[in-house]
This record gives sequence, structure tokens and C-alpha cells, in this order.
Amino acid sequence: MHELSIAQNILDIVREKIPQGEEALVRAVRIKIGAMAGVVPDSLAFCFSAITHGTPLERTALEIINVPLTVHCKMCGAESSIEQTLFFCPSCGGFELDVLTGREMQVSEIELDDEEENRP
Ligand SMILES: [Zn+2]
Repeated sequence: MHELSIAQNILDIVREKIPQGEEALVRAVRIKIGAMAGVVPDSLAFCFSAITHGTPLERTALEIINVPLTVHCKMCGAESSIEQTLFFCPSCGGFELDVLTGREMQVSEIELDDEEENRP
């Protein structure tokens, strides 16, 4: 499954960035997924919780930030947010488009438990 290998990648990134022994402090992992990344967010969240089950990261939430598809039109210069199925410029109808956002597939933030919150 595609989402399973992505979830595994996310886990690898988290383990790379977080010192050993502090994994249980990871509260949330934020990940940006573009509309064109070809990832099913629900499926990814399911895979992530499946592979972290029974590990120090099992309480970690995977927060998915959906990045819309935006394009720059080479014909009229307009920047628009468009639906995947309508791949043309809403301003002039042109088909010469550069994709600005929507292909993202990256970990944007790893949030750790704030120790101050745990103080009495
Ligand atoms: Zn245009």
C-alpha cells in the first residue's frame, strides 16, 4: 500500500529528528499534503497509527494539512486555486499552467509536549 510506505517515511523522519528516549514526548506530527500528491489522508492517518501502535510514538497524532492546488497561468499571469479536474486557468481559459502548490508531501512540524503544561 502506497500510504503505508509514506507513513513509514514519516516515522523515519521523526526518529531522525527526535533524540532516542524522547519519542514519547512527541505530541503531534504535522504533515503537508498537496491536492495532487496522490495521498489519501484518512488512509495515511490509519497507517501511521497502525505502525506506531505499541511503540513510544503510539499517542502521537498525525495532523494533516491539506494544501490546495494553485497554479500560475503563463498566458495571463493569473494565480488561481483550481480543482484537479479542471486543469485550466479560470481567468483566461489557458492551459499553459505552472503548478505553484499542490504537490507537497512533507513533514512540516514535529510538536513536542510542552513540559511547562505538566507542572502543577
Ligand atoms: Zn490565464
